[in-house]
Amino acid sequence: MSEFKLLVTGCNGRMGQAVISAAEAQGVAVGAGIDVGGSLPEALAKCDCTIDFSSHHFTDELLAESLRQNKSLVIGTTGHTSEELARIKDASKTIPVVFASNFSVGVNTLFWLTRKAAELLGPDFDLEVVEMHHRMKKDAPSGTARTLVEILADVRGLEYDTDCRHGRFGDVGARTPKEIGVHALRGGDVVGDHTVVFANIGERVELTHKASSRDTFAGGAVRAARWLEGKPAGLYDMQDVLGLK
Ligand code: NAD
Repeated sequence: MSEFKLLVTGCNGRMGQAVISAAEAQGVAVGAGIDVGGSLPEALAKCDCTIDFSSHHFTDELLAESLRQNKSLVIGTTGHTSEELARIKDASKTIPVVFASNFSVGVNTLFWLTRKAAELLGPDFDLEVVEMHHRMKKDAPSGTARTLVEILADVRGLEYDTDCRHGRFGDVGARTPKEIGVHALRGGDVVGDHTVVFANIGERVELTHKASSRDTFAGGAVRAARWLEGKPAGLYDMQDVLGLK
């Protein structure tokens, strides 16, 4: 049997470089890496699975080529439009895809704790999500913050689009119980901080995760790629990979 090989897309970027190091550390071969201007069909032909940390503008091309070559896919890129998200879902009916807004064990534990805390604390607590990332990050709020809000909205039976307020500026009036606030801070070299605030009259609970290295995301993505080997078509996330479901 030939050796399992990874294609790393966005290979010159911060995460791409971290994935190449993580693959080496886990003894997984990188068959090819491409960045802007590279030939995807040629690179993918040499590999079994792609790990993508590039741009959501690249996702359609990556899905089409992965479908054409019947190759599995790990998508770490964030900032997708709802149409692009629908196309990821569609492709996963034919090929196995792991799509995760965050690949760290700590953040996936935060996802679990957030659901539990929202269920236990009940509807009297106001919900706010605050994230901070480095000055170069393009999308806001982060994919991880969006996942946290989706979890909170699911527990409360709210709609992500209509019940989430991104920041508060000007005369926006008092906070309503049917509202989840999302706040994105940008600056310096912060790898990724996320806090979920549950605030009631007289008390407050805060759950915080702080990433200090990209290696935690990169290592998780390589683990996800290995986990996908032999899996049937489907849309998986990091909770599946970690066995948390
Ligand atoms: P980055 O800007 O450092 O790197 C992105 C790389 O992708 C660049 O080298 C860029 O040239 C390349 N690229 C852009 N368009 C491309 C295309 N069409 N074809 C090939 N390459 C292309 O960014 P980053 O910090 O490495 O983050 C990349 C993505 O990963 C972002 O969407 C970010 O939000 C996301 N991210 C996800 C996680 C996670 O755990 N899921 C963690 C960190 C970052």
